[in-house]
Amino acid sequence: MSTPNNGGTPRYNPLESMQRRFDEAKEKLGLDDQFANVLRVPDKVVAANIPVTMDDGTIRVFEAYRVVHSVHLGPSKGGIRYSMDVHLDEVKALAAWMTWKCAVVNVPYGGAKGGIKCDPRSMSKGELERLTRGYTLAMRNVFGPDKDIPAPDMGTSAQEMAWIVDEFSKITGHNSYAVVTGKPLVLGGSLGRVEATGRGVMVSTRSAMAKLGLNPTNTTCVVQGFGNVGSISAKLIAQLGVKIVAISDVSGGYYNPEGIDVAEAIAYVANSSTRSLEGYTGGSPVTNGELLELPCDILVPAAMEDQITPENAARIKAKMIVEGANGPTTAEADSILNDKGILVVPDILANAGGVTVSYFEWVQNRLGYYWTEERVNRRADRAMKQAFDNVYATAEKYNVNMRIAAYIVALDKVASTLKLRGSF
Ligand code: NAD
Repeated sequence: MSTPNNGGTPRYNPLESMQRRFDEAKEKLGLDDQFANVLRVPDKVVAANIPVTMDDGTIRVFEAYRVVHSVHLGPSKGGIRYSMDVHLDEVKALAAWMTWKCAVVNVPYGGAKGGIKCDPRSMSKGELERLTRGYTLAMRNVFGPDKDIPAPDMGTSAQEMAWIVDEFSKITGHNSYAVVTGKPLVLGGSLGRVEATGRGVMVSTRSAMAKLGLNPTNTTCVVQGFGNVGSISAKLIAQLGVKIVAISDVSGGYYNPEGIDVAEAIAYVANSSTRSLEGYTGGSPVTNGELLELPCDILVPAAMEDQITPENAARIKAKMIVEGANGPTTAEADSILNDKGILVVPDILANAGGVTVSYFEWVQNRLGYYWTEERVNRRADRAMKQAFDNVYATAEKYNVNMRIAAYIVALDKVASTLKLRGSF
């Protein structure tokens, strides 16, 4: 399996990828340096070393970060990632992408991201709980319903969010559901949150298909990554009538030109001891690298960063790429995809359905009044559709691709708050 940044040292730097697009958008927008200089770098970086007593009685120390990129539009918002690949520049990039994402989809939040360098799959539930509580304690002055609101990301789930609510509520002395989103339903979670990111990917895909004049019944799609975002994107895109011809996860890829039965694949993962597609027989095995280059109309990278690079971009056959993952395409690969005429719906637009419903969750927590799933989905779909149309129109206005257009929309909005607030 070809994974550019597996094993520690990344070959591409996501922060540089973010800043290159930022600089291009800043030039197109004619934004003054004094504002751009504030927004090009994070507002605050907090690092901590978290000691955890492991099940065997030994103490291990885990490297942890929380980066707040911007609080100009509101409290900062962003997930927490548990992975051995976590490094500070990645967390800084992910935090900035949260700022741009919230601005693109009109959610009144700034951006942040957290990360702990650990391998959650090799840790027991008790070890993960102690690590999560230790992280919450270390970040107690950063987190808060009006300050900084975490959520799940790769390697974390509703369970970690429940532990954060509990630990943070103990620290503050009162119940504090609104300190995180992506919580279990019985603990102040929102209906529709689990499916929200994949649903937004589907809405973006549907909008992009309409722009390219693609008819779902003659359209094929490949999805990389089969976790929360990938599996739900695959399921909902299949429901549009599109044929999903390949899926993959950390165990590798599975290709079936006749179509993958997505519901069956989801059930396979749920029942497998490894919680992965390992051993799945619904398609012939391909590597994750080969998967990206398969013949298809739509490619949905929904695993991790730096998958589409100058090394493979020229061989991609899809007509459009809808970025479920954050940062799956490096800045150097953008121009190759552009020259090939591939429509790229960028991460900060395509996967913004998650933060949109996170915002709805936070609103419901603060109201103490909970919405129906139908209401959540209707409002989220509308927000995603409007954001897509706005970015598409901006791309036409500035004669740029959709990624730079999304940065222009975001930068313009955040910079205008800087100008109005005046103190920074
Ligand atoms: P997840 O942990 O649920 O799933 C990740 C998937 O990627 C798993 O299937 C895993 O096996 C697979 N994977 C891991 N390494 C891989 C590799 N080297 N090659 C191929 N597949 C690999 O995570 P998720 O929440 O689905 O997040 C996926 C991406 O989407 C991340 O970039 C995340 O930042 C982004 N994202 C997630 C959300 C959300 O709401 N969950 C919102 C916005 C963006």
